[in-house]
Amino acid sequence: MSRFWSDVVTGLTPYVPGEQPKLANLVKLNTNENPYGPSPRALEAIRAATNESLKLYPDPNADLLKRVIAANHGVDANNVFVGNGSDEVLAHVFLGLLRHRLPILFPDISYSFYPVYCGLYQVAHETVPLREDFSIRVVDYARPNGGIIFPNPNAPTGRLLPLVEVESLLQANADSVVVIDEAYVDFGGESAIPLVARHPNLLVVQTLSKSRSLAGLRVGFAVGHADLIEALERVKNSFNSYPLDRLAIAGAVAAFEDREYFEQTRRAVIATREKLVADLAALGFELVPSAANFVFARHPRRDAAETAQALRQHGIIVRHFKQARIEQFLRITVGTDEQCAALITALKTIVG
Ligand SMILES: *Cc1c(COP(=O)(O)O)cnc(C)c1O
Repeated sequence: MSRFWSDVVTGLTPYVPGEQPKLANLVKLNTNENPYGPSPRALEAIRAATNESLKLYPDPNADLLKRVIAANHGVDANNVFVGNGSDEVLAHVFLGLLRHRLPILFPDISYSFYPVYCGLYQVAHETVPLREDFSIRVVDYARPNGGIIFPNPNAPTGRLLPLVEVESLLQANADSVVVIDEAYVDFGGESAIPLVARHPNLLVVQTLSKSRSLAGLRVGFAVGHADLIEALERVKNSFNSYPLDRLAIAGAVAAFEDREYFEQTRRAVIATREKLVADLAALGFELVPSAANFVFARHPRRDAAETAQALRQHGIIVRHFKQARIEQFLRITVGTDEQCAALITALKTIVG
């Protein structure tokens, strides 16, 4: 605290990102990065864009990238917004579309950045408890609200809400914006983007950080009715005209164009997840069904914080949340087959 701080800053509770260790050789299964790395074509495009033209500002509207995303998802370019990571897109969503008189709703167990944005932009919110099995009960959201947001699959549980239930939520809340954060949808979910044409209150947010393995490039996007996109453009053009630099635009475009690499790597992650789930179950872990690139697991007889600490001693880091209802769970990112094998070997000595 400092007397130079504004009241707003003094009152903030910032988000705490998962650790990015400076030590090499750790098996890093704590922040849901993709172990396979970006498409070689994306890397080549970034290298090719690294030239004299960096003296010039990038396209403030990233029109080329919007067109590529629109073509990829069967919408028009004016249905697409792009930002510096989906976290930035979400920030603009909170200010531009979720700040109303009534409180917004999100699950009690959900992405922990949402309450942080509520604090930053002074958005009133109420949390809605998930069922005991961590599924979302859509009827609990059928009440007056200023908007609804949740990840699908949810984070950190990995649990998917079927698209039919997303649609009934949209119908029951036609007067508020419903934001579906699809950071993990490519690992087993069905995107709600096709519903955008029928539901002007739907905004779908996605990222290139997970399924396209570009967390370091910082590119995220939203798809929705042109009126919702215009709100985000108004916020963006009142904040930073150039959120995506030339390298990010070039790399993101090439990543979308390399469909084959995308399909191959996401299938590899899904296959490894299924093996990891079976191996963890064999060690006595209980698992929430996962449609994401991570699993959420609890051991009935081992303390989760102690297990995370013991894994660290073996050079493996996973995520543990000190939060009611989930303090006995570990969130484990699906790594390569080798990384997951190392995890299972370590767990055999820790819980076995
Ligand atoms: C990773 C993640 C994001 C943020 O992604 P970036 O595009 O890297 O900012 C957003 N929402 C959820 C639920 C996530 O897990």
